[in-house]
Amino acid sequence: MNLVSFSIKTKGIHNFTRRLTTVFSRFGFSERRTQRALYTVIESLKPYQAMPTFFIPAVVLERHARLLAEIADHRAEVGIHGYVHNDYRTLSHSEQYKQTEKAISVFEEKHIPYRGFRNPYLGWTEASLEVFAGLGFTYDSNDAVIHDVIDLNQLSPLLLSGYEKSLELFQAIDCNSYTLRPYFAGEIVRIPTSIPDDEMLFDRLRFPDKEIGRIWSSIMQRVYELGGIYVLNLHPERAILCKHSLNDLLSFTLDQALPIWVTSLGDVAQWWKERSQFRLNFEPLTANRWQVEAICTSRSTLLARHVAIEDQPTTKWHGADFQVLSQRFIVSAQQCPCLGVSIQTSQDVEKFLLEQGYPFVRCSDQDAHNYTYFLDRPEGLGTTRKEQIQRKSALLNELEELETPLIYYGCWPKGYRAALSITGDIDSITIQDFFRRIIEV
Ligand SMILES: [Zn+2]
Repeated sequence: MNLVSFSIKTKGIHNFTRRLTTVFSRFGFSERRTQRALYTVIESLKPYQAMPTFFIPAVVLERHARLLAEIADHRAEVGIHGYVHNDYRTLSHSEQYKQTEKAISVFEEKHIPYRGFRNPYLGWTEASLEVFAGLGFTYDSNDAVIHDVIDLNQLSPLLLSGYEKSLELFQAIDCNSYTLRPYFAGEIVRIPTSIPDDEMLFDRLRFPDKEIGRIWSSIMQRVYELGGIYVLNLHPERAILCKHSLNDLLSFTLDQALPIWVTSLGDVAQWWKERSQFRLNFEPLTANRWQVEAICTSRSTLLARHVAIEDQPTTKWHGADFQVLSQRFIVSAQQCPCLGVSIQTSQDVEKFLLEQGYPFVRCSDQDAHNYTYFLDRPEGLGTTRKEQIQRKSALLNELEELETPLIYYGCWPKGYRAALSITGDIDSITIQDFFRRIIEV
């Protein structure tokens, strides 16, 4: 399927004609306009000591290598957005592999470092994950979490149908504490991305700049409550048009009680790998006292609730949680402040708890009362993607709501409550690029 038929299918003929007129106002025949847009995002993030993450198809990179080399040099992270701008769902495993390999060779030839992949149209498949792992990527950012911020009743039937087409195209999943976190699929760190994106809000639903800033801030608010990551996709072609919205969102992060980590996706992936090695050991002392040893790096966020830390400083965190500012401390509590997991509980539960930062001990039903909470899940966390998302979301929710003694690792480094990454897919840089997409697919 080429760009024209794809656009008509997903946007409708009416929107497609409208799209053509916007192209001429947003792109030029030279790189200048896009360059200005890229720097607009880069400059907006500077006060937050953060970099944006841009994804670009290799053929577009090849035509504009100097511009990309210039921003990839300490100004932005650059990831791969396909060899051409096509939907991997229409490709076989081996075609996906060949195209990704070809994209890598362009990035290497142009000396642009990369760590992540985002599929055009967020069109990933299980085969894509194998391809990414096989070719040494650290992360992908394709899982589309839908935030319920649009009052659908207000939309005209035409806009509503366009909106629904986008959700289907992006294989959207619901928003909760679990889906808003990165997770491992084998070696690949999967970082969710959020929708509606700028294209849906600005072009399809035609919200004004100011209103978009309000919507993005309300998404950030929700992500903060849930302690996840907000990955905003702001295509550079709309970066100048949405400049105020972006600044509103960024300044909103400063208004929260706890800090929000504004950072690039590559840093998030690196952090998630670092955090996956963290462990907690509990050694019983006298009755109802434990020596806790945290095996982690100095960036870890070590949290405690419903316990007394005897010998080390703590600081108030979110809800009932305190942050413990030491990696070795004595705790007093009614039970050992970690989970008990039954012998017959399936192995995937153990893996899940480790990834989510919850310490546990395998124990028999008779010993269950020694631990703060007992999990018996022989059925495991499901086989299909849908089942896994449901069960993992439910289990995480259950653990987050525990009102019993608990020591565990927070999601983000250094006491941050949530994370925000500003990303943007550079689908085209010039008008020529835009029209070449028609034949390049
Ligand atoms: Zn794209």
